Amino acid sequence: MKSIQSLPERVDVAIVGGGIIGVSTAYALSRAGVSVAVFEKSTIACEQSSRNWGWVRSLMRDLPEIPLALLANRLWDEIQGQTDVGFRHSGILYLARTPAELDDYRRWLDTARPLGVDAVMLDRTQVSEHLPNARESWIGGLYSRSDGVAEPALATQGIAGLARRHGAHVREHCAARGLSMRGGGAWAVHTEHGSIQADAVLVAGGAWSRLFCGNLGVSLPQLKVRASVLSTPPVNPPLDIAVNGRDFTCRPRADGGYTVSQFNASYTDIVPDSFRLFRHFLPAWVKSSGLVKLRFGRAFFRELRVKRRFGPDGVTPFEQRRVLDPGPSRAAARSSLKKLAQVFPAFETAPVREMWGGYIDVTPDALPIISPVAGHVGLYVATGFSGHGFGIGPAVGEVAAKMVLNQEPEIDLAPFRLSRF
Ligand SMILES: Cc1cc2nc3c(=O)[nH]c(=O)nc-3n(C[C@H](O)[C@H](O)[C@H](O)COP(=O)(O)OP(=O)(O)OC[C@H]3O[C@@H](n4cnc5c(N)ncnc54)[C@H](O)[C@@H]3O)c2cc1C
Repeated sequence: MKSIQSLPERVDVAIVGGGIIGVSTAYALSRAGVSVAVFEKSTIACEQSSRNWGWVRSLMRDLPEIPLALLANRLWDEIQGQTDVGFRHSGILYLARTPAELDDYRRWLDTARPLGVDAVMLDRTQVSEHLPNARESWIGGLYSRSDGVAEPALATQGIAGLARRHGAHVREHCAARGLSMRGGGAWAVHTEHGSIQADAVLVAGGAWSRLFCGNLGVSLPQLKVRASVLSTPPVNPPLDIAVNGRDFTCRPRADGGYTVSQFNASYTDIVPDSFRLFRHFLPAWVKSSGLVKLRFGRAFFRELRVKRRFGPDGVTPFEQRRVLDPGPSRAAARSSLKKLAQVFPAFETAPVREMWGGYIDVTPDALPIISPVAGHVGLYVATGFSGHGFGIGPAVGEVAAKMVLNQEPEIDLAPFRLSRF
């Protein structure tokens, strides 16, 4: 087997994907003395892990994710202690305009509090105390002071740096083309620059995981949702906490500016997979109508041309399209800023500094898949984070590391099994 320059011929664990999930798992494994290699087809954090809002939240998470969020909150502090990832407990506030919204929050809190979240309900006066410069008066909100923010690209690259410091091999511009089984239960990981052996492989390929697994004959229900985001420079007076105002979201950035978006600034492109996975996703589309809009356009024909089966010796789709870089919906992003400015006058004259789009990888139940793959000994996936994987990334790294080592993770991974679909 031709080995990849500057990499050993074999490692204990190979990881496909250098987003927050791949590098956090590599960090946890390398700290435990396990030899690990990460393969990233472009650069660390080139896709979701640099394009996200940077929220590190427990608020309004699905209950199975809450133990991950609580563990992550602690780990972010530890990571920030070692390298600057822009993490701080800024606090996060979800605002309510209507009694129905308030009830929604209260119901969630009743079920989440026994799991250890430190969130509280706020009344109208308390919301005003948190947002003294707001024009609108909300009837209440849901607040967590320990939730916070981090800088997405800085954080993912910082964690990759920590993993390297502990001996992990992190290889950029090196697409993993596929896998094959070797004798003795080891995998051969075929990359565009040669092959390497590994006892276990973790697929943490974000929006590409379905294609990678599909080539191995493993069906993973996953689609992409296109989101649009913008940033502004600092404003005066500043807004110090991250706020979800239902029709806008805003979080303070380490550079003094703000990242602005909204939950309903997302589109799902109709692609061939939309039909293949229709049965799985129909209930989610019905439930989220109004939040996610379906669009038919060029994406359909582009994805129709993507090869779904490929071998290790030719160029694969992972090399043909190095980075998923969808253009933002300018109208949707600008409308978030407009709505923010209606409430916080300081943003009325704020210019747009940058605007970007990002594909979110989603599963039918909006929960991630953190799981062994049945029938493929030594193959694991950690993917499908459905728009919430950045904040819990460090915790997922810890539990995924235990999973691939066949050790008992401290958090129950049963809700995240692939076999639930
Ligand atoms: C606009 C937006 C806002 C979001 N906001 C938040 C938020 O505020 N808080 C939060 O918690 N989450 C948020 N998310 C979600 C969060 O960003 C993701 O859940 C998280 O980054 C997923 O990390 P990942 O490592 O699984 O995937 P990614 O970051 O997408 O990384 C996967 C990597 O795998 C690489 N790859 C794929 N296939 C191969 C291959 N064959 N060979 C080599 N490399 C490969 C890709 O190039 C990519 O770099 C948001 C996402 C978006 C897009």
